[in-house]
Amino acid sequence: MTKLVIDAPPLVALPIAGSDEMFPVRRVYCIGRNYAAHAIEMGHDPDREPPFFFQKNPCNLDSSGVFPYPSKTSDVHHEIEMAVMLKTGGNNIPVSDALDHVFGYALSLDMTRRDLQGEQKKMGRPWEIGKAFERSAPVGIIYTVDAVGHLSTGRVELKVNNEIRQEGDLNQMIWKVPEMIAYLSEYFELAAGDVILSGTPAGVGPVVRGDVMQMSIQGLGSLDIPVI
Ligand code: MN
Repeated sequence: MTKLVIDAPPLVALPIAGSDEMFPVRRVYCIGRNYAAHAIEMGHDPDREPPFFFQKNPCNLDSSGVFPYPSKTSDVHHEIEMAVMLKTGGNNIPVSDALDHVFGYALSLDMTRRDLQGEQKKMGRPWEIGKAFERSAPVGIIYTVDAVGHLSTGRVELKVNNEIRQEGDLNQMIWKVPEMIAYLSEYFELAAGDVILSGTPAGVGPVVRGDVMQMSIQGLGSLDIPVI
């Protein structure tokens, strides 16, 4: 057995609906501007330019059910997204085979320190400081493909304190789930345990401590995340 000089970092694993087994996380890819109305609200042309991705860290995924307000920001935004969990991977996966690699789907949030991300954008610098902070991706329970099938349509909604902030439909994604998997697999070797956050509809905005983010995606149930 391998001897380690320090304790092994904890494995990140997420709960699965109807199972006492957990889903272990390998990598987290997030697509930017995947709903036209959100691209417009962020000041971009929604024409179908090639997709772009950034990454969060596996340990940024958080199934604790609360979102601690992060450090060094006064403008942290909610972005509701469908998470896609892979059970297998590979390189150069054809669009036609891509869904065979999906294990399941979950509600998730791509929480963003918008003020810090904005500064990085202006300077042409990477986004990690705005995107990949501690517990920046609250995630709900995983629904397996066996249980719910593949989701390509369905209402997406986020309320804050019972007021609708974000609404859209999965069918408004510019790049569909199979296309995202195929595209990513040309640049990275995808593998079991990889998670893809599939973009957010319009209506992103700030939260403060004491708010409750109430999320739902048709087929994936609902999830309330208090900001603490
Ligand atoms: Mn996002």
